[in-house]
Amino acid sequence: MIIDLPTRNLRANNSLIKDGILFIRNRLSLKRVMSSLTYQMKGRRKCFYCHEKFLPSQMTLDHLYPQEIGGPTITNNLVPCCNECNGRKANMTQEEYFVFSHLSSTDEKLKYSIELSVRRKEFQKKGLYELPAEWLQETSTNRIKFHTIKISEEEYSRKQEKFLECGHLPKPIVVDRKLNLLDGFHWLIIARNYDIKTVNVIKLDNVELIGAKRLEDLISKG
Ligand SMILES: [Zn+2]
Repeated sequence: MIIDLPTRNLRANNSLIKDGILFIRNRLSLKRVMSSLTYQMKGRRKCFYCHEKFLPSQMTLDHLYPQEIGGPTITNNLVPCCNECNGRKANMTQEEYFVFSHLSSTDEKLKYSIELSVRRKEFQKKGLYELPAEWLQETSTNRIKFHTIKISEEEYSRKQEKFLECGHLPKPIVVDRKLNLLDGFHWLIIARNYDIKTVNVIKLDNVELIGAKRLEDLISKG
């Protein structure tokens, strides 16, 4: 998939946009880069949901497709929003939140929340993702390249438990255009350890992870 990027060439925080490609330095936090680009493109003053104005320090970023269901931390899936709206929207998608906020009684809202959590579990059991189909593609697990990062035992066990409970990876893995891992390290390790041959990935076709040296070269070439 192609993610939204500022149209002009741009250099910021160890990343560079050149001719429509976002180059990110190895090991840099994807979240930091995507947050900064989202604020640049969508502003940091107005809440996407209530349309009120806030101070930049009062703003947060909401995942339109929540992280819980595998919503990636990419510009297309992030919107600036106030703390209050972010808290109210919780783990709902944009559409679900729209329905939810038009329900008048607390009872209806509660009933709707329960229905949603039942549906989430059903999707997970079937190994399906509540994400746009065009974002996803299947890739051989062994083709995904990554730098060895120290495994967090605690995080690994938590995710392994979830994996065993639903029998699938509950979230897709995010990779760059050359299949370098961007997000989902522990899920990838689980997939490898359980000999899962193919995984669903969200491949960012206009993003590339590069080494510090190559980034420097690109920057110096202008
Ligand atoms: Zn708001």
